[in-house]
Amino acid sequence: MNNPVEALSESSQKRLRENWQAVLENVGRAARQSGRDPGDVKIVGVTKYVDESLTAALLKLGCHDLGESRPQVLWRKAETFADLPGLPTVTWHQIGHVQTNKVRRLVRHHPVIHSIDSGRLLAAVAEESLKAEVTTKCLLEINISGEEAKTGMSRREIEDCLRELPVDGVEIIGLMAMAGRSSRGDTAAQQFAEVRELRSQWESDFGCTLPELSLGMSGDYTEAIAEGATIVRIGSMIFDGLREV
Ligand SMILES: *Cc1c(COP(=O)(O)O)cnc(C)c1O
Repeated sequence: MNNPVEALSESSQKRLRENWQAVLENVGRAARQSGRDPGDVKIVGVTKYVDESLTAALLKLGCHDLGESRPQVLWRKAETFADLPGLPTVTWHQIGHVQTNKVRRLVRHHPVIHSIDSGRLLAAVAEESLKAEVTTKCLLEINISGEEAKTGMSRREIEDCLRELPVDGVEIIGLMAMAGRSSRGDTAAQQFAEVRELRSQWESDFGCTLPELSLGMSGDYTEAIAEGATIVRIGSMIFDGLREV
């Protein structure tokens, strides 16, 4: 693949540009309606649905934070893009579950890892980061919905991680959560509010700072921003009508 962007048709490029503009406007509006500065909400463009071509096209539109679900796809795209001249630098975000045997190759790409879902994974990221002489920014993923299908740690597991801080090789920058159908029947907004409250409690209990809240996807970013999300992870809304893979 010599030039992955030019492989895209005019109509796909146009559609992507319109979708991205709409996402910027919607997220900005949600921030202002919550009395927040749109610049305080980072949009991670989730590119797990699409190939290198659409991923590069989004990057060229100015979305420099890209999220992938699978580590092996993140590093494949990162390695492809590194060989292409003229592309902006990407900050990669690992948003899906990471097996410990994938950590070594993943940390080479300096990702922000949103999906720290066990103390064991955190220890592996710390160990491989030290070997690679990098510090990896991480968010602790909290299971807020209580659903079996959703990943993330319990409150107790998160407290066990926070108690160990600081850990060389990693910087814990905040919390990540996905809203789901809660077993208690509460809404996304209530679940996000709970994350915000836990953040304050943990900051004071453990004397740490957890500035980033990675909450909200295409279906619930408005609620997430109202509850203080500093990062939203948006995929479907960006690639609406464009999904290739
Ligand atoms: C796929 C995914 C997203 C993006 O979801 P959309 O509904 O497509 O915006 C966000 N976060 C995680 C963890 C994901 O796996």
